[in-house]
Amino acid sequence: VKLKGRNSYQFFNKEMQKNAERTAYLQMELNKALNEEAFELYFQPIVSAKTSKIEKAEILLRWQLNGEFISPEEFIPIAEQSGLIVPIGKWVRQQALMIIAECWRQGEPIALSVNVSTCEFLTDDLQKQFLQCFEEFMDQQTESDFPLSLLTLEITESLMMDQHQNIESLLNQLRSCGIKISVDDFGTGYSSLSYLANFPVDQIKIDKAFIQKIEQGPRHRALVEAIASMSNALELAVTAEGVETQAQLDFVKNNKVDAIQGYFFYKPMPQQAFFDLISQNNL
Ligand code: C2E
Ligand code: CA
Ligand code: CA
Ligand code: CA
Repeated sequence: VKLKGRNSYQFFNKEMQKNAERTAYLQMELNKALNEEAFELYFQPIVSAKTSKIEKAEILLRWQLNGEFISPEEFIPIAEQSGLIVPIGKWVRQQALMIIAECWRQGEPIALSVNVSTCEFLTDDLQKQFLQCFEEFMDQQTESDFPLSLLTLEITESLMMDQHQNIESLLNQLRSCGIKISVDDFGTGYSSLSYLANFPVDQIKIDKAFIQKIEQGPRHRALVEAIASMSNALELAVTAEGVETQAQLDFVKNNKVDAIQGYFFYKPMPQQAFFDLISQNNL
């Protein structure tokens, strides 16, 4: 038993060492990627539950290293730990605003949502910087009626649990500029339901973990039903994320979900493919 214990301890150590090396390597490469603007934006269309028409898209960050995609599930946490998420997040939002502005000026407004990490709000200073970016952007626009309402920020529940007061006023300021706030991954976090009634948010996204269990039994369906009806009662718009099958689609539609995102309709795609798609759809 002792010997076995020692072996597995060594194995564990080696694994940990390998993980630490990979993290350090990716962190260094992330830094380079940021300076070289080597990230790519992918767009996943979100459709109306009623009409199946594309209403907007979520921007999802993509990173290729030596010709291989590194999953955001791997690199976003590293960016968060190293603080790189702050400049990365800022870059993503700037890109989104530029695209929104361009489309809007061409008379084809498009609504986009971007993910925001809780790490981008950790200090008062970061919060100030966050708001400043939008102010600077608006100052650069010649039109004072530029619709910031075409931008949605997807935040997670963990943000609402932290530093309650500050965050509430930050969200209020963002919303007073027209920006929409969405609660992403709803139900997977700390989930104190009370904040939903008080927090200044516009919509929630039911996490794909719930959607993908819809066919697994009545208890799973009951959860989705409860989340949807609670959101409806609070007058929050609801998006179902990760819809892959007809049965999932039928179920969420019957539960008054407003919008659908998932492989059943569209996978995330490069920018050009997305714009080709929406221009076809508009014909
Ligand atoms: P998320 O915000 O929950 O994004 C939804 C994820 O679900 C995306 O994974 C999307 O590709 C995937 N998805 C959508 N529909 C389906 C479906 O029908 N089936 C399945 N199996 N998956 C579906 P992705 O692109 O790998 O992103 C993973 C996570 O990385 C995101 O989860 C988000 O938390 C984070 N992330 C991505 N881009 C950014 C970013 O620019 N900033 C920050 N802070 N986080 C980001
Ligand atoms: Ca999201
Ligand atoms: Ca999500
Ligand atoms: Ca997520």
